[in-house]
Amino acid sequence: MYEKEKEELLAACGEMIKENLVIISAGNASIRVSDEHAVITPSSVPYAKMTLDDVVVVNMEGDVIEADRNASVETPTHLEIYKQREDANAVVHSHSVYATALAVLQKPLPPILDEVVPKLGGEIRVTSYAMPGTKDLAKNVVEAMNRRSAVLIANHGAVTCGNNIRKALDNAILLERTCRIYLLALRAGEPIPLPEDVVEDEEDLWEIMRDF
Ligand SMILES: [Zn+2]
Repeated sequence: MYEKEKEELLAACGEMIKENLVIISAGNASIRVSDEHAVITPSSVPYAKMTLDDVVVVNMEGDVIEADRNASVETPTHLEIYKQREDANAVVHSHSVYATALAVLQKPLPPILDEVVPKLGGEIRVTSYAMPGTKDLAKNVVEAMNRRSAVLIANHGAVTCGNNIRKALDNAILLERTCRIYLLALRAGEPIPLPEDVVEDEEDLWEIMRDF
């Protein structure tokens, strides 16, 4: 089932490794393939060894439809995003260094760059803490990602979403780069956010662009 989407997902995983968004088998990614189903990466399989047969098909209740492996432990978070967000057709969960550093500080990423707000939606919030793989984590992620395409997961990592897997991945790369710039700027002085009226206009742009 869904061979083309499984191939897209594997290609995205290769880029996640190349872009240093994850290491070995950490993090996960999924694509919503229909109203009923999503394809998601398996649990504990190194990306370097992952094949199409390892990708798991689940329904929106989390039941496994087709699998040789266990689905990612964060499947509840992916599915909760698909249930609550019509604009999200793909989700990337990274453990990238700079985004995770901010998540450890439990410090939100302010809107500091013009290129970022139309794509990610404004200040990127940090979730309340919850254990990995729990329904609480899924609930916290969806809450803190309200009207955003990215969120930092307290003491853990980050999640981005997009209308397709290319956008979800690009958003993860952009989030990581922006967190890096913010942390560098913090070391040198006091970063200055964009003017509030500019942020409001750019948030409106996010509204328009999120469905494309
Ligand atoms: Zn994780």
